[in-house]
Amino acid sequence: MNLRITEIFLSIQGESSHAGRPCAFVRLTGCPMRCVWCDSVYTFTGGERKTFDEIFALLKEFGCNLVEVTGGDPLAQKNVFPFIALLCDEDFEVLIETGGYVSTEKVDERAKIILDVKCPASGESERNHWANLERLRADKDEVKFVIADLNDWEFAKEIIEKYDLEIRAKEILISPIFGIENLAEIAETVSRSGLKVRLNLQLHKYIWGKDTRGV
Ligand code: SF4
Repeated sequence: MNLRITEIFLSIQGESSHAGRPCAFVRLTGCPMRCVWCDSVYTFTGGERKTFDEIFALLKEFGCNLVEVTGGDPLAQKNVFPFIALLCDEDFEVLIETGGYVSTEKVDERAKIILDVKCPASGESERNHWANLERLRADKDEVKFVIADLNDWEFAKEIIEKYDLEIRAKEILISPIFGIENLAEIAETVSRSGLKVRLNLQLHKYIWGKDTRGV
């Protein structure tokens, strides 16, 4: 079996409650969404087919137990589901970063899901697969709202309440888009909210810049 891959690299996890940990990334090609602020447009096309054996050989060279399968939207390729199961069989700690359009139902239960909920400024909020929120597991899964403005923050609050996310998810990540002008205002607003959320800044972009790939 194989997957279409944009890049595989070793870096520091830049987001989520795992931020700062060494992590191997497997970035799959393709995404059914078109978020206005997307920072990985280069994954939409191209890529290279790699067999599972080729991918595992690279991961073993890295010697890093934490692996994130990302994209694009990794769940858009059907072969990703057996690939995730194999990663779990090999005792990798597996994170799945998904855009929230594709169902998470077939993801191996040992993997940890980081589920995006698209807010209005993304232009894709109508395409969220809401049933994914009901599958979140409080001991391992995280939910992420990328926010571009305070209207997105209001939307995030509504969804947090509607789906009981403070109980249902291990972490609620509030992730302002990189370079946003009113970051301090957003941080203050989040801090006053009384909600059990985590401000999620993209560590890798502060280290290597916003356009550097493979880091
Ligand atoms: S889901 Fe992710 S990869 Fe797809 S368009 Fe949105 S931000 Fe880009």
